[in-house]
Amino acid sequence: MLRIAIQAKGRLSEQSLALLSEAGIDVDDSKRKFLSRSSSFPAEILFLRDDDIPQAVSMGVADIGIVGYNEVLERGGEIDVVDRLGFGGCRISLALPKAVDYPGLSWFEGKRIATSYPNILGRFLAEKGIHAQIMTISGSVEIAPAVGMGDAIFDIVSSGGTLVSNGLVEVERVVASEAVVVAGRSLSEEKRRILQQILSRFNAVKDSRDKKYLLMNIPADALDEAIRIVPAMRSPTVLPLAQSGWYSLHSVVDASLLWEKIEQLKAIGAEGILVLSVEKMIL
Ligand code: ATP
Ligand code: ZN
Repeated sequence: MLRIAIQAKGRLSEQSLALLSEAGIDVDDSKRKFLSRSSSFPAEILFLRDDDIPQAVSMGVADIGIVGYNEVLERGGEIDVVDRLGFGGCRISLALPKAVDYPGLSWFEGKRIATSYPNILGRFLAEKGIHAQIMTISGSVEIAPAVGMGDAIFDIVSSGGTLVSNGLVEVERVVASEAVVVAGRSLSEEKRRILQQILSRFNAVKDSRDKKYLLMNIPADALDEAIRIVPAMRSPTVLPLAQSGWYSLHSVVDASLLWEKIEQLKAIGAEGILVLSVEKMIL
């Protein structure tokens, strides 16, 4: 049995639950219990505030956790990042009122910077040799300069819309973040085995998300060329059609290349092209 901590309510909750579910780890979160046993996998889900996940894993209250890398960097602890999940992307940046004419990092010397990430900021300033006063506040950091609680802020940015609506400009991107899997350092042999199983399922889910399954009819004389265009994982599947001189070709392509591949296939005579989502992909 492995205990997995995820964010109870917030930006990472839904995608964490969706990933678990796609990996065959179903959780009933309808009762909004603090701890929920999976009906389909030897795991329990512990619903916490994201800020508490690194510590819970470090203390062994949970064995692994799904949390933003920003919280891992800020809180630290006896934990290791064992996987990156590709959602919850953001960065933590320094931003200032847009009226300031920003000359570079030296501007921050002697200034007051409001943030919920004092540890990350403290390390960054020390590394750059800048002496500034860090003002730790737990929420609504972006309004700090307007209310006189700091000359600048160090906060999470994703689209940048919140900064703009508060009259701020991002001047330094300090760290990039995404949701990650963290694991405690003293897991039993049994728990490590379950963790490996989960990570390989997560990878299958991630791989399938950016792949498409393609089927098409292709005339015999264009078959070699079509195989070059969509080579698949090992090689495409080719089946003869009932009508002679034609084949059915099945392959898998990167979603990002889908339209380009379809155009190339049409140009060499492919017909009846079908595109399907890939449910899981095990390499
Ligand atoms: P909690 O109640 O669990 O403490 P929270 O308000 O601290 O929640 P959320 O706003 O739900 O946290 O954000 C959770 C995580 O989502 C962040 O720690 C970060 O990793 C990620 N994230 C992605 N984009 C953003 C964004 N624009 N603003 C804040 N967090 C973001
Ligand atoms: Zn939080």
